[in-house]
Parts: sequence; structure tokens; C-alpha cells
Amino acid sequence: MNFQSFNPPRRILMGPGPSDISPEVLASLSRPVIGHLDPLFVGMMDEVKALLQYAFQTKNEFTIALSAPGSAGMEACFVNLVEAGDKVIVCRNGVFGDRMIQNVTRIGAEAIVVDSPWGRAVEIDKVEQALIANPDAKFVAFVHAETSTGAVSDAKTLCALAQKHHCLTIVDAVTSLGGIELKVDEWGIDAIYSGSQKCLSCVPGLSPISFSQKAVDVIKERKTKIQSWFLDQSLVMSYWSGNGKRSYHHTAPVNSLYGLHESLVQLHREGLENRIKRHKIQHEALAEGLAKLGIEFIVPKEERLPQLNAIYIPEGIDDVKVRHYLLNKYNLEIGAGLGDLAGKAWRIGLMGYAARSENVILCLAALEDALN
Ligand code: PLP
Repeated sequence: MNFQSFNPPRRILMGPGPSDISPEVLASLSRPVIGHLDPLFVGMMDEVKALLQYAFQTKNEFTIALSAPGSAGMEACFVNLVEAGDKVIVCRNGVFGDRMIQNVTRIGAEAIVVDSPWGRAVEIDKVEQALIANPDAKFVAFVHAETSTGAVSDAKTLCALAQKHHCLTIVDAVTSLGGIELKVDEWGIDAIYSGSQKCLSCVPGLSPISFSQKAVDVIKERKTKIQSWFLDQSLVMSYWSGNGKRSYHHTAPVNSLYGLHESLVQLHREGLENRIKRHKIQHEALAEGLAKLGIEFIVPKEERLPQLNAIYIPEGIDDVKVRHYLLNKYNLEIGAGLGDLAGKAWRIGLMGYAARSENVILCLAALEDALN
């Protein structure tokens, strides 16, 4: 068989991720590979760390990018902090809350599940009731931006509630980081993870994470050894720490980290507030156009994520046929529904570099064409 090089077309990525990356991020990926302990590379990693602290709005020393996707970031938070027998309040209002439960139970810990309807924010009252009924709970875990439904939850209030009940918080910020307001220190988040491929607009495969001092202390005081060698953060830290004594842990994905560095430089240059405002402006333009097409949102207005627009597929319309039409005619990718919303919803992402007027205009015109 005669194998050829793979040359994918240039798509416009308006699904739930990966999102479009800028030409500068794309160019950074093709720079020469250097050793992952080369002093120049180590200097760049120090900058990645500082830029991630900016993105997360934290001074946490333990702020790094895991060499693995968001799912590994999720797992790293749970396996490092939670031990068998611990009680964890887990909020579920979509697919990713459900994955948190699976992480907790696989550790042998107990998940106290607080269910809220899909397409809605986590219900604060229910979480408070669970905290009152379980005074021995150690953690509250929730998804800030539920990518499966497009709903944002009130992270600030949930963290305050957890603190009142002496619980640490584990927060999924895979879709929220760089897209909506997120203040790790001010809100008192203890463990947080994200992904490189959403509002940061970098290639997939890296997971920024950050642990508060309280979380680090919990890890240090563990009674049992962390079951995962690769995700044991006490081992990874010696590679990321800036004290000049870096030692080999695993071979870092050198070029992906160039990409993350570049995407974070762009975020810093634009400014977090401006980036957040841009997502909101583009979301409002998209929502206005969708309303004109008679398309309805799944999430009520005040609980909607600007970067992930989940909409009902109009009646009588073939989900797969329309998405293939958009892909083949316009090179435009929108996302299918996930979990309970499979076949009922589309998810239109406006993440990072993709949150631009030309994308909104194209998406609306292409959808109008596909639906007629
Ligand atoms: N959590 C949320 C909210 C997500 O949207 C995703 C991915 O879409 C993940 C976790 C898992 O991230 P990854 O696919 O990078 O492993």
C-alpha cells in the first residue's frame, strides 16, 4: 500500500472543542524541537507557569500544565486529593459531572450526588442541603462550564458554601478558563483543571491545573500512596518547580508546550477582561441571528455560556445530515448533542480564536442555507 502524508483541510471549528487556533499558535508548533531539560525550554516553562497563574487569577505556586488532556487533569485532582473512604459532594448537571462521580467511586471514596436538571446551573440550595446532611464531607466538586449542555454554574457561591462547611473544592474549568470570569484565589478554589483546546485556543492534549496551599497540604498529609504514578503531582512538581533543581519525570510534549506558551502570550496581550468581553459580544450576535432563524436555546438566558451555545435541533431536521452538509459545503464544524441531548441538540462553540464576527456570520448563513 502506498501511504501518503496526511493533509487535512482547514476547517472552521465551532464545536465544543477543539477550537480554532491562531496562525501564530500554529506556527509556534513547527519550531525546532529542543530538549525538555534545555535551559531555554525550562525558561519557557517558567513563563507558561506565570501565564497560567494570570489566566487562573491565582498566586498558587502549584500551577502547571499536565502533559495530558483535560480528562487527566480531572483524574489528577481526584486521585491526589481524595482517599478511599472520603466523602465527596459531586454536583451533576451534565456529562462531565457524571465523570467526576466515576473518578470518586473508582478511588473507593463515597460520592454524594447532587443532581440538577441538564441545561441548568447547579442548584445551590440542593448543595447546601447535602452539606448539612453530610457534615463529614471533605470536598465539593462541580463543573463550572458544563460543555454538554452549555450551562454555567455559580462557582463563586458554590466555593463560599463549601468553605462555610469546611470542604475543599474541586472545579472543572475545561471550558470556562479564558472564556468567562474565573477567579481562583478570590473565590477560594482549591483544585482546578482545564484543557488547552477550548478558550485558550491551543492544540488538544495539555491540561492546566492549579492547587491551593490547602490542597497541597492535604496531599502531603495523605495516609495512603497515590495509586497513579504518572498523575502523582508530588513527583511532577520536581520537574515544574523553578528552583533550578529540575529532574526528569516524563518527556514533556515540547512543541505542544510552545503552542500553549504562544496561546497564553496572546491571551495576556489581549487581556483577560477583553477576551471575556469578546466572547460575550460574539455570543450575543450569534443568539440574535439564531432567534431570527427561529432556533431556541436549551439554557435560560441568565445561565448560558457565551462560548458554548447549545440549541434545540428544529423539528423534522436530520441532525447528522445538516452537520455533514455544513462540514462538506462550508468546512464548518458544529457539535452534536452529548449524553441525554444526543440527537436533540447542536452545540455551537465560540471559543478563543473562533469567537470572531466572521465566524458568527458564516455560521448563521450556513445554518440558514442548511435548514432551507
Ligand atoms: N470536562 C469538561 C467540562 C469538558 O468539556 C471536557 C472535554 O470536552 C473534559 C472535561 C475532558 O477533556 P478532554 O477531552 O481534553 O480529556
